[in-house]
Parts: sequence; structure tokens; C-alpha cells
Amino acid sequence: MHTSWAQLAREVSDCTACPLCEGCTQKVMGQGDPKAPLMLIGEGPGEQEDLQGLVFVGRAGDLLTKMLAAIHLPRDRVYICNTVKCRPPKNRTPKPAELEACQPFLLQQIALVQPKVIFLLGSTAVRVMLGPNYRITQCRGQWFERGGMKIIATFHPAALLRDPRRKHETWADLQMVRDELKAQSLYAGLLP
Ligand code: SF4
Repeated sequence: MHTSWAQLAREVSDCTACPLCEGCTQKVMGQGDPKAPLMLIGEGPGEQEDLQGLVFVGRAGDLLTKMLAAIHLPRDRVYICNTVKCRPPKNRTPKPAELEACQPFLLQQIALVQPKVIFLLGSTAVRVMLGPNYRITQCRGQWFERGGMKIIATFHPAALLRDPRRKHETWADLQMVRDELKAQSLYAGLLP
């Protein structure tokens, strides 16, 4: 059955499928163009996201905005979400059972957006989308294909803030995303 955005928002809002809902201020589903050809998937809401109800705000969010700007993409032309919709306590990594509980929402978001290219930000998104045996350090910068979508991973912006030496690898990954969008004739339509 095809879920609408309104129905999905209601389901997420009402969800108590894992304990993360007990400690969060609000659910953070995602934002951006709901028909974007490029979808970005991070890990989960942090403190500012939890307070503001928005994905990727604060320092990591600012860096993500700059990363997209480096390939001339405005944030509002892509769709951005996370693997879990509730903030894990003290920003810890979501547990496998929490990821599993929230995955149906992520899959519904993908089904609604129908992106052509998915950009995974960090190891948690890699595990959820590619499988538990994949490691960000090994699989970043490589294309994967799932269900007709091209998928590539890079480091999470928060990890880049902790270790800026990784930025040159992320720049290479961003260029691969840009080039794939160009190859699929999708890039020009995303420019401001
Ligand atoms: Fe539900 Fe996801 Fe929140 Fe867990 S993290 S309560 S599965 S919305």
C-alpha cells in the first residue's frame, strides 16, 4: 500500500516502537524537496535537531550546507533525513533494535521521494542501507546499486568536525555525486 506524506508524518508522530521516543523532545522526520533526485541520509537527530524539529542544524548542519554548496547544490533542492527519527540519549549511536524499528519509516520516505541517487552520511546510514558488514572506511567513495538507485557513502559531517583530515575524501565523494547527477542529466535541474 502506498503511504502518503501526511499519513507517514502521523505514523512517525505517534510511533512508540522503540525506547528512543521516551527521551526526545519531538520526532524529526526530514526536510527538503519531497521529489528530489538526490536524498541524503544521516544518523539521527542531535540536540539542536531535537529542539528545533529540523534535520542537520547546528555545526554539523552548517558543514553539510557548505558541503552541498561546494557542488553548487542548495539544501532545499535535495531531501535530507536520518536513520532514526528520535534523538538517542546523549547522541549515542542508535542500537540495532532501534534502527530496525525505525527502518520502515526510512524505506517509506525513500518510496515517496523516489530518489535516483542516495548519499549516505556516516557509518550508521551505511549499516542500515548497505548491510551490517559494511564499514564506512572501506565502502566510501564507491557506487552501489539497490533497487535501481545509485548509492554512495561518505563521512558524517560531525565526524569531519572531529577529524578534518577526512575532508579531502569527502570532497572526492561529493564530486562523484555531482558527476553521477550530471551523467543522469539531473544536475542542471538542481542548480539555483
Ligand atoms: Fe519510532 Fe523511530 Fe522514534 Fe523509535 S526512533 S520511537 S522507531 S520514530
